[in-house]
Amino acid sequence: MCAQLVAIDIVHELTTLLSSERVSVTTADRSLHAVDQSAHTPHMPDIVLWPETTAEVSNILKLANQQRLPVTAWGAGTSIEGNPIPVRGGLLLNMQRMSQILAVHENDFQVTVQPGLYYKDMNRMLAQYGLFFPPDPGANASIGGMLANNAAGIRTVKYGATRENVLALEVVLANGQIIRTGSRSVKQSSGYDLTHLIVGSEGTLGIITEATLKLYPIPAFFSAATAVFPTVQEAAQVVYEIIGSGLEPNALELLDETAVAIINTDPSINLVPGPNLFMEFSSASENSLGETMAQVQAICEESDCLNFGAGIGQDARKKLWEARHRLFEIHLHHFPGEDFLLADVSVPISQYPTLAKATAQHIADLGLKGSIISHAGDGNLHTAVFFPHSDTRSRDCANQLNKRLVELALALGGTSTGEHGVGIGKAKYMAQEHGPALEVMRQIKRALDPNGILNPGKIFPE
Ligand SMILES: Cc1cc2nc3c(=O)[nH]c(=O)nc-3n(C[C@H](O)[C@H](O)[C@H](O)COP(=O)(O)OP(=O)(O)OC[C@H]3O[C@@H](n4cnc5c(N)ncnc54)[C@H](O)[C@@H]3O)c2cc1C
Repeated sequence: MCAQLVAIDIVHELTTLLSSERVSVTTADRSLHAVDQSAHTPHMPDIVLWPETTAEVSNILKLANQQRLPVTAWGAGTSIEGNPIPVRGGLLLNMQRMSQILAVHENDFQVTVQPGLYYKDMNRMLAQYGLFFPPDPGANASIGGMLANNAAGIRTVKYGATRENVLALEVVLANGQIIRTGSRSVKQSSGYDLTHLIVGSEGTLGIITEATLKLYPIPAFFSAATAVFPTVQEAAQVVYEIIGSGLEPNALELLDETAVAIINTDPSINLVPGPNLFMEFSSASENSLGETMAQVQAICEESDCLNFGAGIGQDARKKLWEARHRLFEIHLHHFPGEDFLLADVSVPISQYPTLAKATAQHIADLGLKGSIISHAGDGNLHTAVFFPHSDTRSRDCANQLNKRLVELALALGGTSTGEHGVGIGKAKYMAQEHGPALEVMRQIKRALDPNGILNPGKIFPE
């Protein structure tokens, strides 16, 4: 069948469902939606659409389901596992025009929003209520993309990932049916938990068109600190001790000496070289915050800390987290034009020192240019490995590192992906990680999307 002829018919029908300026077949629009922030092979959709209402999403899916056309949702395209790349072409639903805050339930610490809203914009608006939504992946992701990937980031150690912070959804299923899941009650015990089935499903089970999220009061007092250790393993052990002591950091990040050397190439940053912990604590009172910081310092100093930088003021704290969020971008500048592979394994906190030590050893053994950047407080570890496109040896070694880390994380009771999702890159590990449960996932997929139109080519190995 000639795809071009099908496309002309379909384009015509779609322009009757949406206005013509919200349907595009231009190469420019299609190539903008062919790639996320990963190094996975780009693939263009055939048609890009910008729906504005749930009814429009429903009508598009009815048509796509009838015609067996692939449909991939697109939030902000900041994924790093190829999650929104439309590998089978078809329709690309750019959700950015559905970006309204529908209701702030201030007294219940909740907000109801459309999926195309960027979480940073949402938090800027919510600041006037003294509230915020904690999951913080750093890149300016959309709420829909964060829900679909179950994004997490630096604040998970205290507040949980996106999954722990969603109460209710409106979802359009593959056949166009619109359903509501969950409720605004923080306790829910009614039937199957469809809300949390959709979260993390990467747009393969339905398109999210509305979400009610949990919010938290912005803490009154914050303090940040950095601590430098002789080795990654010693830094990782301190992470375990801080968590084990019952202190509740807002964020607890570990950067190895290579990551610190790279971040220090940015003229605005001047960290003490060596494996660093970045920590942030908050409290409702200055006194209790002071006590917490003294306890943290004592734990670090008992563990051979080489340097403890405490009492970081508001500006320096902001700079520290900005630098942490820009770390990937600083790496890209440091290795211009090179390919990269990011690992994203996660383990129970007691196993984190073992994982961190083994990772440093594997990077050295494989002779890679790689750094460890990790959301250590919740047991999540990333490596960023860079290599020239033509350097097949390093590429093979980077893949080998990824494989070794996944195998180690699984052996330690963890997972192949803590927060980036499966996308394309982790599909090959799904059988190993889930065993017979993978077939149950396939059955769920078939039940909700029997024609396999939603984000095909993702999550499941082929
Ligand atoms: C520099 C950098 C740092 C990052 N750091 C972190 C981090 O610390 N923690 C972390 O978790 N992630 C991190 N990420 C990854 C990324 O930001 C997150 O995965 C984010 O959730 C992606 O959101 P997005 O809006 O860009 O979604 P997209 O990339 O556009 O899409 C993500 C997935 O969601 C689906 N989707 C999008 N909208 C909908 C919808 N309305 N309904 C159903 N499915 C939908 C897409 O089809 C795709 O499968 C980082 C990325 C970068 C570039």
